[in-house]
Amino acid sequence: MASLLNPKVDLRKLILLLTVASVLITLSNALYSIYKVQRDLLLEKTLNANQVYAAKMAETTDIFIEAAQEQLEYSAGILSQAMRDDAVLMSEADRLRRQTQTFNSVYIVNAQGVIVAVSPETLEVKGAQLSSENSLQPLQAQRPIVTDPYISLAGNYLISISNPIFSAQGEYLGYVAGTIYLEKQNIIASILGKHSYQDGSYLYVVDRTKTLIHHPEKARIGMVITDNAAINTVLTGEKGAKDIKNHLGIDMSAGFAPVESTGWGIVAQRPKAATLSELDAQMADVFVKTIPIGLVTLLGIWISSIFISKPLWQLASGVRSMERADTVEHIRQISSWYFEAAHLKAAITRGFGLMSRKINQLDVDSHTDSMTGLLNRRGMLKALDALGEKQQPFSVLALDIDFFKQVNDSHGHDVGDEVITIVASLMQEQARRDDILCRSGGEEFLIFLTDTSPETAYEVAERLRQVVELCEIPIVGQITISVGIAHWSGRDANINVVMKQADNALYEAKANGRNRTEICAELLCAVPELS
Ligand code: GH3
Ligand code: MG
Ligand code: MG
Repeated sequence: MASLLNPKVDLRKLILLLTVASVLITLSNALYSIYKVQRDLLLEKTLNANQVYAAKMAETTDIFIEAAQEQLEYSAGILSQAMRDDAVLMSEADRLRRQTQTFNSVYIVNAQGVIVAVSPETLEVKGAQLSSENSLQPLQAQRPIVTDPYISLAGNYLISISNPIFSAQGEYLGYVAGTIYLEKQNIIASILGKHSYQDGSYLYVVDRTKTLIHHPEKARIGMVITDNAAINTVLTGEKGAKDIKNHLGIDMSAGFAPVESTGWGIVAQRPKAATLSELDAQMADVFVKTIPIGLVTLLGIWISSIFISKPLWQLASGVRSMERADTVEHIRQISSWYFEAAHLKAAITRGFGLMSRKINQLDVDSHTDSMTGLLNRRGMLKALDALGEKQQPFSVLALDIDFFKQVNDSHGHDVGDEVITIVASLMQEQARRDDILCRSGGEEFLIFLTDTSPETAYEVAERLRQVVELCEIPIVGQITISVGIAHWSGRDANINVVMKQADNALYEAKANGRNRTEICAELLCAVPELS
């Protein structure tokens, strides 16, 4: 119960907590959605860009291969009449290599597969018989071809582009070929490498046997790649884009396109992480930029929460200090500017009013004699205390109905009650506003006349006594009362002693025959004129 009455949180904290939580959730949700949309967009754009780039590179490679073959075709034309002329063969091989800068080496092979000329001569393979499968491809094809990679007689890993040489009569005389050394600086690397991105993107080329013939990592050239979805697709002649993992397991956005003339595939790819790192930086930037507005919003929420919770908080603290006399006034002054607070305030004020009226009524009841409406003994003692405290002088009349027992005996208790009530009303009729009337017990009464001299008190007592005597009470007829008077000057004497004196004077009145008023002996001594 105690913890219920002293909870750690109040409305202000709750509002603040709730709004901060909703702001944070909304903000994170917004940031996450932006991130997700941007991420998908960026990855798609990268895939597209790589596809376009791979297609462009494939086209460039096609143009290069075509140009190279045209050069070789031209040479083949010249060589068709000079296959036996060593000098022409040599100079043509040299010219092709030096003039075009396309090939790493140029060699001319006769119809028997013997190298008849080579440039540069340093290769020292002139006169050698070709024997490896791939090097014999042009002889078998007898048409312009690009070979698969192979290791040449001079030990270079290469591909060759060749054109057949036919005599004027159409006899096959051999071929002229330009080589591209795959593991060294070559024309393909120059063309494709030139365009490489600076952002982690790279490009590689596979031939139709899935062998890497160009790759930025030289060590990978010559490897056969069988488990790459992009390579598998591009070698079917399709172009497109795919999310793949590279040989190190890194996620890549890959675009690919086939080189029509050779059956090669070109793949351009970029690590997804590189693409997304830009986005991460952007998102961090967005987040930082939202901080000032976020802080201003929080400040606004904080101020609003104070503003909203203030009336309720004030009402709650007002109710907490209910015992304080100014609580209701304090609650009335609270500005309750919205519906709930206004109604709560009205209810509390109403409740307070109701409660204080009830308490007052209870207080009155507990001090009142229910039969006569006069003060009861408790009320009398309270009134006496107040007089004592204020040191207010008073005269006191002690009243007792004469021979009351006989009334009860003759007419019953109810009639006796009726007589008591009638005497009380006669007392009230005769009393002034400031007089304090009490039923001190049974058929005995006390009347305090404040600031009243014993002489006046005597007159009042006599008047009352006569009024009672003259009153015709139904069933009972006439009754009488006896009265004793004492006086308190507001100082010196003990009030209890004064009360005792009044009692004694009443006793005196009884003893002297009843239906009379007696002033206490002490007063008579002090003021002899009273007697
Ligand atoms: P005295 O003239 O000496 O006063 O004679 P008395 O008969 O009045 O004697 P006393 O004052 O001793 O008796 C009071 C009687 O009043 C005693 C009691 O039965 C009766 N009485 C006390 N309170 C009530 C009451 O509330 N109602 C009624 N009907 N009778 C009461
Ligand atoms: Mg009595
Ligand atoms: Mg009596």
